[in-house]
Amino acid sequence: MAKLNAQYRALQQNYLFSEVARRAAAFSEAHPERDVIRLSIGDVTRPLAPAVVAAMEQAVCEMGRAETFRGYGPEQGYDFLRQAIRGYYAGHCVNVAADEIFVSDGAKSDLGNITDLFDRDNTVLIPDPVYPVYVDTNTMDGRRIVYLPGSADNGFLPGPPDFPVDLVYLCSPNNPTGAVYDRTQLQAWVDYANGCGAVLLFDAAYEVFLHRPELPHSIFALEGARTCAIEFCSLSKTAGFTGTRCGYTVVPRELERDGMSLNRMWLRRQTTKFNGVPYVVQRGAEAVFTGAARGEIRAAVDYYRANARTIAAGLDRLGIWYTGGVDSPYIWMRCPDGMDSWSFFDRLLEGAAVVGTPGAGFGACGEGFFRLTAFGDRDRTAEAVERMVAFLGK
Ligand code: PLP
Repeated sequence: MAKLNAQYRALQQNYLFSEVARRAAAFSEAHPERDVIRLSIGDVTRPLAPAVVAAMEQAVCEMGRAETFRGYGPEQGYDFLRQAIRGYYAGHCVNVAADEIFVSDGAKSDLGNITDLFDRDNTVLIPDPVYPVYVDTNTMDGRRIVYLPGSADNGFLPGPPDFPVDLVYLCSPNNPTGAVYDRTQLQAWVDYANGCGAVLLFDAAYEVFLHRPELPHSIFALEGARTCAIEFCSLSKTAGFTGTRCGYTVVPRELERDGMSLNRMWLRRQTTKFNGVPYVVQRGAEAVFTGAARGEIRAAVDYYRANARTIAAGLDRLGIWYTGGVDSPYIWMRCPDGMDSWSFFDRLLEGAAVVGTPGAGFGACGEGFFRLTAFGDRDRTAEAVERMVAFLGK
C-alpha cells in the first residue's frame, strides 16, 4: 500500500481568506443597502501594460507560423529574458550573471520547490507574522521551525537571533507588515548567515515598491550575500502578472555547502522537474524590463503607492500606529483600543463597511494588528479611509 507523507497532517488549515470572505458576504446579505469596500485585496487590480500585451501578441503570432514556431525552451528561461533581468539588476548596481538567474512561473513555486535542495534535518528560522508558504512548505517536509517574533517594539523587523540556525526566510518589503529592512539591518542578517553557515531565502516579491533611494533593491547589494543568499522575485506585483505567471530566482555561483553548488543543484532540480515558462509569457516579461513598458509599469505602481499614502494619511489623522505604506503596498496597523484582530475586523465591517485582514491569520505575533492593502481603486480607497476616520475618530 502506498505510504503517504504524514507531515500533511501537521499542516494548519488556513481559514484566513475564506473566513474574511465569509464574514464579508454574510454582512452584505444582512445589509444589502451597505456598500462594502475591500482593503483586503492581495491581488493586483491594474491591467497588464500595453507594451507587455503587444509583446505577447507578437509572440503568439510567432508561435502560429512555421518559421518562427518554438517548442520546448530552456528550462531555466530564454537568454533574452535572463539578459533583460541581468540588465535590471545592473541598473540597481548589482551584478548577477545570466546563468545565476532562473526564470519560473512565479515566486510561490520557487519558494516551495527550493526545499528540495535541503535536508530535512535543518532548523528553519521564520519571522512571525509571515507569508504562510514558508511555514507550510517546511511543515510538509517535516523540518523544525523556529519563529522569530515581530512586534511594534522591533518595528516588525526582527534582527538575527543569538543562536545558529540552518535556513532563514526573510521577506522585505514584507507581506503582511509592509516593513522594510534597511541596508544596515540586512547586512546584519548576511553577516549572521555567513557566520553560522545558514542560507538566507530572501523573498523580494515586493521589491518594485521600494521608494526611498537608500534602500537596497536586492540582497546581493550587500557585502557577502553571494556566499549565503538566494533571492526570489516575482512579476506578479511588479507588473500585474498574478494571472500571467512569471518570476525568477537568483542563485549565485559562490553559494556552496559541503562542497556542493546550490546553483548547480537548482539547475539540476529545475531541468528535472520543470519544463520552463511559456515563450509568450517570457516575451511579455522581457518587455517589463526593457523599453516602453517600464514607464507604464511605473504608473501602475505609483497608482498603488498613492493608495498606500491615502491609507497611511488616514491612520496618521487617527493617531494609530502602523508600519508600511511607504515602500510597500501593505499597511499594518495596530487595532485600536487593544482589540484583537478578528473583533476589530467585525467592528470595522459593521461600523464603516470596510474589509481588512486580521493579523492573527499571519501568525501568533499578528494578533492585535490588521493588514490593509493598496491594491484597490483610487476613489474607493479614499472613500474607505474617510469612513474609517469618521467611524474610528468618534
Ligand atoms: N512572496 C510573497 C511575500 C507574496 O506575498 C506572494 C504573493 O502574494 C508571493 C511570494 C507569490 O508570488 P507569485 O505570484 O510570483 O507566485
